[in-house]
Amino acid sequence: MSKFIFSFENGDGKNKQLLGGKGANLCEMKKIGLPVPDGFTITTEACTAYYTNGEKLGDAMEGEVFEYIHALEAKMDKTFGSTEDPLLVSVRSGAAISMPGMMDTVLNLGLNDDAVIGLARLTDNERFAYDCYRRFIQMFSDVVLEIQKFHFDRVLEKMKKDRGAEKDIDLTAEDLKELVSLFKDIVQKQTKKPFPQEPKVQLLMAIEAVFRSWNNNRAIIYRNLNNIPHDIGTAVNVQSMVFGNMGDTSGTGVAFTRNPSTGENKVFGEFLMNAQGEDVVAGIRTPQPVLELEKVMPDVYKEFMSTLETLEHHYLDMQDVEFTIERNKLYFLQTRTGKRTAMAAMKIAVDMVNDGIISKEEAIMRVDPKQIDALLHPTFDEVALEEATLISKGLPASPGAASGRVYFHSEDVVAQKEKGVQTILVRTETSPEDIEGMIAAEGIVTARGGMTSHAAVVARGMGKCCVAGCGDVRVDEVNKVFYVYGQPYNEGDFISVDGNTGSIYEGQLNTREVELSGDFGVFMSWADEIRTLGIRTNADNPRDAKQAVEFGAEGIGLCRTEHMFFDENRIGIVREMIVSQSTEEREEALAKLLPFQKEDFIGIFEVMQERPVTIRLLDPPLHEFLPHLDEDIQKLSEEMKIDFKELKQTIEELKEFNPMLGHRGCRLAITYPEIYEMQARAIFEAVAHVVKEDKFIPALEVMIPLVGHEKELSLLRELVAQTAVEVLGENDVTLDYKIGTMIEVPRAALIADTIATHADFFSFGTNDLTQMTLGFSRDDAGKFIGEYVQKEVFARDPFESIDINGVGRLMKMAKELGRSVKPDLKLGICGEHGGEPSSIEFCHELGFNYVSCSPYRVPIARLAAAQAAIRTK
Ligand code: PEP
Ligand code: MG
Repeated sequence: MSKFIFSFENGDGKNKQLLGGKGANLCEMKKIGLPVPDGFTITTEACTAYYTNGEKLGDAMEGEVFEYIHALEAKMDKTFGSTEDPLLVSVRSGAAISMPGMMDTVLNLGLNDDAVIGLARLTDNERFAYDCYRRFIQMFSDVVLEIQKFHFDRVLEKMKKDRGAEKDIDLTAEDLKELVSLFKDIVQKQTKKPFPQEPKVQLLMAIEAVFRSWNNNRAIIYRNLNNIPHDIGTAVNVQSMVFGNMGDTSGTGVAFTRNPSTGENKVFGEFLMNAQGEDVVAGIRTPQPVLELEKVMPDVYKEFMSTLETLEHHYLDMQDVEFTIERNKLYFLQTRTGKRTAMAAMKIAVDMVNDGIISKEEAIMRVDPKQIDALLHPTFDEVALEEATLISKGLPASPGAASGRVYFHSEDVVAQKEKGVQTILVRTETSPEDIEGMIAAEGIVTARGGMTSHAAVVARGMGKCCVAGCGDVRVDEVNKVFYVYGQPYNEGDFISVDGNTGSIYEGQLNTREVELSGDFGVFMSWADEIRTLGIRTNADNPRDAKQAVEFGAEGIGLCRTEHMFFDENRIGIVREMIVSQSTEEREEALAKLLPFQKEDFIGIFEVMQERPVTIRLLDPPLHEFLPHLDEDIQKLSEEMKIDFKELKQTIEELKEFNPMLGHRGCRLAITYPEIYEMQARAIFEAVAHVVKEDKFIPALEVMIPLVGHEKELSLLRELVAQTAVEVLGENDVTLDYKIGTMIEVPRAALIADTIATHADFFSFGTNDLTQMTLGFSRDDAGKFIGEYVQKEVFARDPFESIDINGVGRLMKMAKELGRSVKPDLKLGICGEHGGEPSSIEFCHELGFNYVSCSPYRVPIARLAAAQAAIRTK
C-alpha cells in the first residue's frame, strides 16, 4: 500500500517533488530545530491519486488521514471538537514549484459549536473564539462549499452598521455569536445542509477542496504562464494552528531575509499585532515594518532575527517566511526561497558570491533569464519627472515604469490589450481572480495593501511595475473612476506609474534608458566567462545594432535586408523595381537602390567594427512591398506614370495563394539574379568603403535564404562570389569573407551534407523550419496554437520554443550531416527561438557556435547560455 502522508518530523526535507515546497521546508525546519507548529503533509502523489481515482480520496487515504490526526491529537494533547482543549488546524496547499496565492487554504479547521466553547475557555477570551469561528465559517464556505463571499460580507456589513461599529474589531462577543448563527443560516440556505460540525468531515472536505484548487482557473493560467506541468499535483499541509490574534502579546507577519525589491542585505517585512496571517497578506489593515518588532517585543525580535539568519545560512538563499507570535512565543509557519525582482536577484547573487556564500555558477543558476527583461526596460526620464504632476504616492511594490490608460476590471484590460492599447490596472486591492488583467496590464496600482499584498507579490513575480497601498486613492470600480481628494480619474485617462518610487503621475511620461553597469555588469561578466555559445543579434539598422552591442552582442547573426526597403525614400524605387517589365528597367531601379543599401551596410559595419555581420539577401515575396488598396494603387500609378489598370494587373499577377511557400527567398534570385547582384555589390562596396575610410576589416558573412536544393545555393554563391571579385578588384581591397545559407526548408536539413559542400556556415531559420516541418502557417497558427498547448499536444508553442522531437531532430540531423563533410562548419540559429532559454540550451547541446536574437533578448541569451553550460557540464 502506498504511503500518502508524512509527519513533519519524518518527511524528507529535500523531497519537494513528493512533499511540495512548503511541506518539504516544514520538515527541514523541524529537523534543524526551529519552532514549527506540529503537523503532517499529504503528498503530491496523493493529489494525483485523487485525480486518477475520479476525484475521490478513497478509503486508504482517508484511513491514513485519521491515523495522522489521532497522532497529532496525542502529540498536542488536544482533541478535535473538544469543549476543553480543541485541536484546530490549518489546511494549506503547497506544490513542488511555488504558485503563490493560486490555490486554496483553510484556517481554524476543527471549530464547531463545541470547540468554540473550548477555545473561549482555554483562552479566556470569548470574543476571540467566536471571531475565529465566524472567520472559519466564511473561509470554509468560500473555499470548500463554494458559496460566494458577498453573502457573508453583506451580513457582516449590516451588523457593523446596526451596531455603529466602524471596524470588525469593534464587534462584541455577543455580536460575533449572533454572526456565527447568521452565517450558519447562509450555509443551510445555500447548500440545503447544515454547516458540517464533525471536524473529521471538515478535514476531508478541506483536503479535497485543496486538491480541487490545483485545477482552478487561476492556477491553470499561472502554470501556463510559468511553464509548470499540469500533472504534478499539489501537496496538502495540515498543521496545528497557532494564533496571532490572541491579544496584544500576539501578532503575525511575513518577512524576507533580504529586501526583495532592491536586494539590500537587510531583513524586510511587515507585521500586525493581534491579527491572523490573512490580514497581512490580504492587505486589509496596513501593517508595520518588521524591524519595529524590536520596540514592541525585544526578546521575540532577537529570536526572530537569529532564526532568519539560521534559515538563510541553511538554505544559502534569501528566504521568505511567515511567522506568528502567540502570547510571546514565536512560531515559523513556513519558509521558502523568496521571490525577488530582477534587480534584487542580481544584487543578492553578486553579494552572496562576494561574501563567499555561493559560487559564481550557483549565482548564475539563481537568476531566471526571463526576469532579466525587467532590467532592460526604461525608467522615467528625470526631466519628464520634474515636470510631471504627481497624483499620489503609494508603496514601491514592484519596480519599473509604465504609462497607460486607466482600467478597473481585469476583463477590460484584457480587451484593451487585444486592441493594442496599453493600460494600467487600478483596483482597491487585487485578488487571484485578477491574474489575467495583471498579465495584460503594463502596470498595476492598488489603493490598499502592503509590500506583501497580493498585487505586490504577483507583480514582482511577473516583473511588472506596481504601486500598492496608495492611501489617498479611492477607487470606485463600479463607476469606473478613481478619486484623489475629490479629483476624478476616469476609465481611459492616461497615468504613469513608477514602481521604483511608488509615485503615480498624470498623463504619459517619457522614459530613460537602462543602466547596465554595477551588479548587472559584474553578473553578466560571470555568465560570459562560463558560457561557450556565442551570442549574436538580429538587427537591420545601426540603432538596433548599437543597442545589441551595449547589451553584449558579439556579432549580427541576421541582418534582414528587406527591412531597409520600407523606408520612405526607398519604397518608391523598390516598387519601380518590382513592377518593371524588363530586366533593363529592373536594373535601372536597382541601380537607384544601391546607394541606399550601401549606406545602410556602412552604418552597420561601423557599429559592429570587426565583429561578424551576417547579411541575408532579400527574402520576402515581392508583392509584400506593393499597395493593395485601389486608392494606393492609383497614387502609385500617378507617381510612376503607369496606367492604373496595367499596374493593378501586375500587382494581381504577383499575388500568391500561399506567399510563405511562394516566390520568395533565393527563389527570387533564381528568377531575378539582378536583385542579389545589386545587394552583393552594395555589400562589397560598403566593405571597400570601411576598409579604406575607417581602416578596419569587417567580418562579413553573406547568407542565402530559403535554400532547399544545393543547386540554388551553388548558383547564387557563384553570383555573389563573382560580384565580390569585381567590386573588391575595382577597389583594390582584399577580404576574407564567408558565404553560407539558412537551413529553414526541411529538404535542406535532409541533404545538409550536400548543401554543406557549398556553404561556409549554416544558420537555422527555425521560424520557417518550424512552419514547414509542422505544416503550420507562421501567420495563422496563432489562432489555434493556444488550444494545442492547453490540450497538451505541444507542451509549448513550437514557434516560441523549439519542438525538440520534430524540428529539433531535423536540426540534429543537419548538424551531423553538415559536419560530416565539414567538421568545422559554423552553426548558428537566427529564428525567434534564438532568444528563448530552453531552445538556447538545446543549441548548446547540439554544439552550435552561436545563437542570434533580438537586441533586448541578448542578455537573456547570455545568461541562458551560461546556465546551459553549467547544466550540461
Ligand atoms: C526564420 O525563418 O527562422 C528566419 C530567421 O527568417 P525569417 O523569420 O525572416 O523568415
Ligand atoms: Mg525564414
